[in-house]
Amino acid sequence: MKIAFIGLGNMGGGMAANLVKAGHTVHAFDLSAEATERATGNGCAVFPTVREAVQGVDAVVSMLPNGKIVESVYTADVIGQAPAGALLLDCSTIDVDTARKVASAAEAAGYAMVDAPVSGGIAAANGGTLTFMVGGTEDAFKRAEPILAAMGKAVIHAGASGAGQAAKICNNMILGATMIATCEAFALAEKLGLDLQTFFDISSKASGQSWSMTSYCPVPGVGPQSPADNGYQGGFAAALMLKDLKLALEAAQSVGANVPMGTRAEELYEAFAAAGNGGVDFSGIIKTL
Ligand code: NAD
Repeated sequence: MKIAFIGLGNMGGGMAANLVKAGHTVHAFDLSAEATERATGNGCAVFPTVREAVQGVDAVVSMLPNGKIVESVYTADVIGQAPAGALLLDCSTIDVDTARKVASAAEAAGYAMVDAPVSGGIAAANGGTLTFMVGGTEDAFKRAEPILAAMGKAVIHAGASGAGQAAKICNNMILGATMIATCEAFALAEKLGLDLQTFFDISSKASGQSWSMTSYCPVPGVGPQSPADNGYQGGFAAALMLKDLKLALEAAQSVGANVPMGTRAEELYEAFAAAGNGGVDFSGIIKTL
């Protein structure tokens, strides 16, 4: 297949490379010269504009920073420029309303479009082990599945347009809140004189267990290897967690949902990022608790 890939940053760079490895011809575009150089090295054909990159392709995949950029790239340079009938897949994490708005504009112009945000960070993007949560029609999902499978280990149909983004932000709202709860509990356990490895051995097999504890323990030297063992570097940046929590709160407000734990998690990550820790792994918030 001929696939245009827009947004070759930390995540998109590895994803585009995996499409090349799967045998696709990838037409790549990014505003950053560094990103396009890496893409060339990974076997992508780099184009000077989005409009040129989408000419003659079967599908367009994007991995961009936010909803505003996604909307402007699709409305200005993809819709009406990519061949009629091309499948459009936005893998960025953006707000549900923008995802639905862009998909409706694409559908009105005769394209099928899915929102397909991911779970898994840079290592999963490079390794082709992302999990995709897909929003769109059954037909669009069936067409998207083999393309996404080349970049991930799981591709799940979440529901209609916007459902992939809804699943992503609900999942990450749980993650933000459970990480803080886990950090708090370890900090308290230490003050109460418990050995932290012993506490892990107990709680990881008891009802306090969660992914934040057993796969991503925020205490150095406890549990499997995690960013805590690397000075809280190189995992999922606190700024990205904050972004996802803000999207969750915005979505909650739009439907009148009560999310007190998500709200508190957002406040704590906001303060953590404002103190200069935006680039620190999100489990580093333990240092403030
Ligand atoms: P990034 O900043 O590394 O990459 C974004 C890329 O988009 C950059 O290379 C930038 O130059 C490019 N870009 C910006 N505007 C553009 C435009 N108008 N046209 C073309 N390219 C443009 O970000 P990232 O970490 O790769 O994240 C991308 C998306 O993935 C975000 O929506 C993020 O929330 C989501 N995400 C990230 C992670 C993670 O661990 N990094 C995990 C899950 C989801």
